[in-house]
Parts: sequence; C-alpha cells; structure tokens
Amino acid sequence: MVETTIKRLIRDVPDFPKPGILFKDVTPLLADAAALSRVVDALAEPYRQGGAPTVDRVLGIESRGFIFGTPVAQRLGVGFAPIRKPGKLPWRTVSESYALEYGEDRIELHEDAVHKGERVLIVDDLLATGGTLTAACRLVERLGGQVAGCAVVIELGFLDGRKRLGERPVHSLVTY
Ligand code: AMP
Repeated sequence: MVETTIKRLIRDVPDFPKPGILFKDVTPLLADAAALSRVVDALAEPYRQGGAPTVDRVLGIESRGFIFGTPVAQRLGVGFAPIRKPGKLPWRTVSESYALEYGEDRIELHEDAVHKGERVLIVDDLLATGGTLTAACRLVERLGGQVAGCAVVIELGFLDGRKRLGERPVHSLVTY
C-alpha cells in the first residue's frame, strides 16, 4: 500500500530548519525508484478519467513541488509551470503574499502560465498551515484559471491547512 511505503521512507528530522520544527524529509523516498514511481502515479490518479487528464496543466511549488509536479504532469500528458520564490522567474509575473509564523513570504507565477478557464492541478510535497497552497490557488484564480485540485504527498492534519483551502479539493497520500 502506497501509504505504508511513504511512511517508511519519510525521515523525521527534529529542529530543522529551526528549533521546534519536525521536518518531513522526502529524500529517502526520492532515492527509491519504485516508491517514487508509485507516489507519482498516486498523485496523478485522481486527475485522470478513462486514460484522459481532467486538468489542463500542472503547477509545482518551489522547490519540492517541482520534483513531484513535473512527473505528475508527464503522467497526465499535460504541461507544467513553476510557482517560484520572488525574483526567480525571468518574465512578467503575478505575485501573492502570505503570512508566516514570523513575517511574510511571497510566491510568483508567470502571467502566461495559466489561461482563462483552464483547470489546474497544484502539486507540493507537504501541506502544513495551508498558507503556501492558498496563495498558489489565488495566483491561478487571478489569472482566470480554476483550481481543479491540490495534491500533496504529506498532510500535517493537526495544522488544519485543508480548512484554509476552503472548497478547493485536496488530495494527500499520507496524513500525520
Ligand atoms: P504551509 O504554507 O504552512 O502549508 O507550509 C507548506 C510549505 O512549507 C511546503 O512547501 C513544505 O515543503 C514546507 N513545510 C512546512 N512544514 C514542513 C515540515 N514540517 N517538513 C517539511 N516541509 C515543510
């Protein structure tokens, strides 16, 4: 079962990147070819019907969302676009700020990454408070796209990030 495989291959690193955070390290999962392939299949599966994709595009959030999002886009046979930290994308962007525990952060997306009416799947490795994914959804919606779903490998259920995302569908492969 994919859930057991993922839980076996996620390494808990206490106090990284700062004291009090239990970091969920996915690098042992990435190192296992069979497990990685199953995880990518499981992330893509809800967005395919009768072999055809039910989304027009996949977006991945910097940086672990790039690692999982790109092969998901390939499995579905649709294009990929990166959501990046400020100042990294070379062309015209839309940008959204969101609150962190201390201070603020921002993410950006190219203006032509999503077209009006497109159905978009957003991929990241982990859903914690939901601040990052909610900002990503707002980027898509500002460009006239529709968030068909948010797919993550890991959900930290006790932080209630899913609630912050409202009506937008969320798929997670394992929940802690
Ligand atoms: P949030 O905006 O609070 O939902 O945080 C989600 C983003 O922060 C994702 O891009 C994760 O990669 C990263 N993140 C937050 N908490 C953790 C954690 N405990 N372990 C690994 N990554 C985390």
